[in-house]
Amino acid sequence: MQSTLNVARVVVVGGGIAGVYFISRLLELVKDVEVVLVEPEDHHFFVVGVPMAFGGLVDFQELVFPLAALRRVRHLKFGAAALSQEKDRPCVRGAREGPVCGDYLVLAPGAVKLGSVNYWTLNGALELYRKVVSAKVIRFIVSVFTPVGGFQELAYAIKSRFPEKEVSVHVVYASPDYDFLLDVQASKAREIGVEVSRDPPEWRQGELHVSVPAARVHPLAANLEVAPTTFETDIERVYLIGDSSLIKLDLPPVGWGALWQATIAAQAVASEILKGYVEVEVDHWGGRDKDSFRNWLTYRMTTGTPLVHLRGLYDLWKRIIKNL
Ligand SMILES: Cc1cc2nc3c(=O)[nH]c(=O)nc-3n(C[C@H](O)[C@H](O)[C@H](O)COP(=O)(O)OP(=O)(O)OC[C@H]3O[C@@H](n4cnc5c(N)ncnc54)[C@H](O)[C@@H]3O)c2cc1C
Repeated sequence: MQSTLNVARVVVVGGGIAGVYFISRLLELVKDVEVVLVEPEDHHFFVVGVPMAFGGLVDFQELVFPLAALRRVRHLKFGAAALSQEKDRPCVRGAREGPVCGDYLVLAPGAVKLGSVNYWTLNGALELYRKVVSAKVIRFIVSVFTPVGGFQELAYAIKSRFPEKEVSVHVVYASPDYDFLLDVQASKAREIGVEVSRDPPEWRQGELHVSVPAARVHPLAANLEVAPTTFETDIERVYLIGDSSLIKLDLPPVGWGALWQATIAAQAVASEILKGYVEVEVDHWGGRDKDSFRNWLTYRMTTGTPLVHLRGLYDLWKRIIKNL
């Protein structure tokens, strides 16, 4: 339990979509809590907004939020390399740093991404955008078990901004866990004018073929088991949320999932700090468990207007970061 003399300390590993949203919800729920963020970059990058930048709705630079501007969160700039336990508290260490320990440890390091294209960092996204501008035809080709999200949104955005270009998505192969998502996305894509088929035609002069990279569980999370309702792991007071957690739960690693998990984990940690026991309630981002989340996501994907709802999320995000 939290007391006035002993403020709870929560260490968050990874300042991406899941980590940032977790911190925001936690600070809303608990007034006196010390939050430490372990993140190797000096900024938060609003990855989900990259398609908006491709679509011309925001500048790429507007997706970068310096962590030095955060007032309520202490940023430690290093990459966590290992977990440990010191005096009964969960801790992380870097290659040379640490241990950094807390009453709670929330792991949100995203997924490891493997491939020849990068559209989840500022420089990677800019490089791909330059290639898109000079190509006449852009094809996104998926032939990995767990594709990195965002390729459909990028395809929609490119087609909206450059209607004269031919844009297509080809799902040659992916995990069956993706089928429900890819089906609804395929019908949305067709509405926007993005062609969807299985095998791509052979590459021709002037075409850009983007081989969608694979997402894998982060090494920090490799040996952890995750409870599908609170996202606490088999190590007490250690939570795993975001892309790596979703992959472990056989769910697609998407940002909506990160928001859902961050909301639930923040409630779990906050209620334990304030009341001494874990209590979570379902809210508007997701559902009670992975099946209800899957249903919610299918509905969301069927009804959402991609770039417009992303714009709303971006405006919300700016407010969230300003309050941290
Ligand atoms: C272009 C694009 C568009 C997308 N659009 C959508 C969309 O419209 N809807 C949707 O639902 N999803 C979308 N996604 C997917 C979504 O962005 C991800 O699911 C989401 O970012 C996952 O959040 P995360 O916090 O788990 O990981 P990330 O956002 O990847 O953040 C991980 C963070 O952890 C840090 N980190 C890594 N290793 C360590 C370490 N060892 N120690 C400490 N920190 C570490 C990283 O630097 C990073 O800041 C999109 C993805 C991309 C690439």
